[in-house]
Amino acid sequence: MSDCIFCKIVDKEIPADIVYEDDLVVAFNDIEPQAPTHILVIPKEHIESLNEIHEDHKQLIGHIHLVIKKLAKESNIADKGYRIVSNCGKEGGQTVDHIHYHIIGGRNLTWPPG
Ligand code: 5GP
Ligand code: ZN
Repeated sequence: MSDCIFCKIVDKEIPADIVYEDDLVVAFNDIEPQAPTHILVIPKEHIESLNEIHEDHKQLIGHIHLVIKKLAKESNIADKGYRIVSNCGKEGGQTVDHIHYHIIGGRNLTWPPG
């Protein structure tokens, strides 16, 4: 989508600190990290949010989870513990309308979220 900031990162139209990329996904460091490790994993396909995923996305969503697992291990947070967040919609706190998974770790995370 032409006015989507994450599509622009996928297309390399704007820079990002990319930590992983393959045919289906891109992962990059969040510009405003909330923890020592704060990576965003996004599909290359523009999907607005979790509300827009369907049966055809099953493989993609499963793949994203395997990428998350790999990046957590590489970031040395796999054993210590970490959190995956996908904010959905306005009340869910979603500010970029291209589905993304936050990998947050490297400190003690509190619950419940704000
Ligand atoms: P949301 O609030 O939608 O769940 O998360 C959006 C995230 O994207 C925020 O954590 C925000 O800091 C991050 N973000 C927004 N714009 C950019 C950008 O241009 N580059 C990077 N690396 N992260 C961004
Ligand atoms: Zn997009």
